[in-house]
Amino acid sequence: YGDYNQKIDYVFKIVLIGDSAVGKSQLLARFARNEFNLDSKATIGVEFQTKTLIIDNKTVKAQIWDTAGQERYRAVTSAYYRGAVGAMLVYDLTKRQSFDHMARWLEELRGHADKNIVIMLIGNKCDLGSLRAVPIEDAQEFAERENLFFMETSALESTNVETAFMSILKEIYQIVG
Ligand code: GDP
Ligand code: MG
Repeated sequence: YGDYNQKIDYVFKIVLIGDSAVGKSQLLARFARNEFNLDSKATIGVEFQTKTLIIDNKTVKAQIWDTAGQERYRAVTSAYYRGAVGAMLVYDLTKRQSFDHMARWLEELRGHADKNIVIMLIGNKCDLGSLRAVPIEDAQEFAERENLFFMETSALESTNVETAFMSILKEIYQIVG
């Protein structure tokens, strides 16, 4: 708080990936600034946001990257993945297609990222339960098979957002810290 000289022990780069409109930018806005926007425009410009927090008495700066409208297949460049120690693979649990695309996002990620990267599968928009198109079991099974952490979230209602980011950061800390 106003301490310019705050010592940062670690900077962890985390990338958000997944189809357009699944809620990546709103998850980030919720986590970094506790904000939410119901008609958010497709992301342009801003590359990443940071949030500094304490894990195990260490100061960790989470640097979270958001695709700048590059969600078309193969449009995300390798610079985006460079140096990432964590990734959140996000789908919209009311859009089956966004879940079916997780396999190819994962393939892209594994092709570009460090092999020790910590990956979390996120089923977002769990506030829209009545419109659910992806059974939780399908996602759990995929996550287990691919060795991913998994959580359902709602950026709108703030459900599990903090928990999801904190658990991936703690996992990264276990590996890197
Ligand atoms: P992105 O393209 O993946 O960055 O998706 P956005 O974050 O821009 O979100 C796309 C749309 O979904 C916007 O209209 C958001 O307000 C909405 N949205 C994002 N997260 C949620 C959520 O958890 N619940 C609901 N109901 N809508 C959401
Ligand atoms: Mg976006």
